[in-house]
Amino acid sequence: MSNLIELKVPDIGGHSNVDVIEVFVKPGDVVSKDDSLITLETDKATMEVPAETAGVVKEVKVAVGSKVSEGDVIVIVEAAAAASATPAEAKPLETTGVASAHTDAGFAPQAAPVAASHSGGADIECDVMVLGGGPGGYSAAFRAADLGQKVVIVERYSTLGGVCLNVGCIPSKALLHNAAVIDEVSHLAANGIKFGKPEVDIDLLRGYKEKVIGKLTGGLAGMAKARKVQIVRGNGRFIDPHHIEVSVTTGNGREESGEKTIVKFRNAIIAAGSRVVKLPFIPDDPRVVDSTGALELKAVPEKMLIIGGGIIGLEMGTVYSTLGARLDVVEMLDGLMQGADRDLVKVWQKWNAHRFDNIMLNTKTVAVEPKEDGVYVTFEGEQAPKEPQRYDLVLYATGRAPNGKLLGAENAGVAVTDRGFIPVDKQQRTNVPHIYAIGDIVGQPMLAHKGVHEGHVAAENCADHKAFFDARVIPGVAYTDPEVAWVGMTEDEAKKQGIKVEKSVFPWAASGRAIANGRDEGFTKLIFDPATHQVIGGGIVGPHAGDMIGEICLAIEMGCDAEDIAKTIHPHPTMGESIGMAAEVFEGSCTDLPPQRKK
Ligand code: FAD
Repeated sequence: MSNLIELKVPDIGGHSNVDVIEVFVKPGDVVSKDDSLITLETDKATMEVPAETAGVVKEVKVAVGSKVSEGDVIVIVEAAAAASATPAEAKPLETTGVASAHTDAGFAPQAAPVAASHSGGADIECDVMVLGGGPGGYSAAFRAADLGQKVVIVERYSTLGGVCLNVGCIPSKALLHNAAVIDEVSHLAANGIKFGKPEVDIDLLRGYKEKVIGKLTGGLAGMAKARKVQIVRGNGRFIDPHHIEVSVTTGNGREESGEKTIVKFRNAIIAAGSRVVKLPFIPDDPRVVDSTGALELKAVPEKMLIIGGGIIGLEMGTVYSTLGARLDVVEMLDGLMQGADRDLVKVWQKWNAHRFDNIMLNTKTVAVEPKEDGVYVTFEGEQAPKEPQRYDLVLYATGRAPNGKLLGAENAGVAVTDRGFIPVDKQQRTNVPHIYAIGDIVGQPMLAHKGVHEGHVAAENCADHKAFFDARVIPGVAYTDPEVAWVGMTEDEAKKQGIKVEKSVFPWAASGRAIANGRDEGFTKLIFDPATHQVIGGGIVGPHAGDMIGEICLAIEMGCDAEDIAKTIHPHPTMGESIGMAAEVFEGSCTDLPPQRKK
């Protein structure tokens, strides 16, 4: 029986005539509840509109370039058909949580669009055009230049460094460093050293963060110059497989001057990154911010809500809480910091319990309403308070979306997934062999160090080397206090996949250095293949865990077994020693713990 339902534009914070910049569905697609239908872009933000109900798409009423307001119909779905669709018919929308960036390991093949053809000339010609100057892009550009290529970077902002240097990894760590020092000295009171309450000059603190950014982005500009990498400032859009049109931008932002530059390239590397996802019910209000807004550190609120219990939200929460804010966090899933093993997260959660008034798991945020005396937020789910809660600041950190659909990639014949990712092979090649893609735009994990490695691979291939992205593992780190770091196979993932693993744990309560530091709450864990005793994963929770995880990455890349690590002499007393000790625990040879059973 037919059951046609109109899915409409919900409340979008009072905006009208908003641009549709992405359409994720087409007739025949099966959508689940909460799958994204379209992306809208206002002056201030982009937001994805989810399906309110599941069904089979019968008709799509909007297209890229349409303008919509609240109540406009987006699609018509047939609910009954959706319910009876067989799994074989059902083609779920791709999630951003794919395991790996590379086509071989995840993306469904995309139909290649027919490329356009540019008959005009070009203002600039180069061997390699890199679109986007973030960590992936500048690393690719510099590597290609070092290999003798004539390189152009197209970047819309006034500085290189992308999200990571300007509004991501680096500014967050500059603030976290200050928070960590405040927290650390407060612990010294128990040892007889009292400092009193810190006086925080928030303008100076913000200035410190800006100085850090300036130093690094200035350094990148100098290194580009030293390599003769030309930077063309503006919004780039492919016009055919060998040309990109750059609409020149000015000032610190993305305002276009009207001037255009055409760049002709032999090879291209797309490194255009990702952007914050704004849920449709998030209003425009200065007290409701994304990570970029939170990093602006305008003031310290009394009561702050973090929507989304991932790393970005929890890192920013750590900063604000140390500066004096009380925190609530709401997470749709059943735990914070997804991806890390629960035993690691448990240690972090216990140590940080004092920061939070309310941790709401399995709970959804359904409305955010700014009022004069605060922002009122309504929740639904297992741990939802009955009444809307009042906050002074709300940070939404619910994920990032790739920019693949905003570049005119179709004009170059480059395939882009429904969600905006650009599929690549292990050489970082798109379906168009002379066009590569790297970084956040090719898939998860959206991390700077992954993009940098992919950038090197793409650059080397542009210079006619035969390079492959063949890293076995990519580490993840939450730079909270304590830090949580993990790499390779996790215990939880092994359990989920039914893979048999063995583990060994060295508790920091047995580490002389951790005890001397007054921070023995953490532990170091190694995960082994039971057949070969090779290390295939590891996790660390404790101060500076992120600085230590690299040794486990190297061990996995080198195919080390427990004995290799256990017999490597680590300096004493260090926290790095705990990795050697964990391997000794596996071997049954650890003499810093009670007697172990020999394997
Ligand atoms: P981006 O850094 O997004 O750079 C893309 C660049 O392309 C941008 O400069 C953009 O302006 C430009 N661009 C896009 N489209 C166009 C166009 N059409 N024309 C011209 N230019 C264009 N990762 C970590 O590894 N460690 C961390 O600690 C960490 N912390 C983070 C903290 C926060 C708050 C956030 C938001 C992110 C963090 N990340 C971290 C993630 C990290 O920032 C990203 O993974 C990384 O920046 C991605 O690099 P990229 O080169 O792919 O793209």
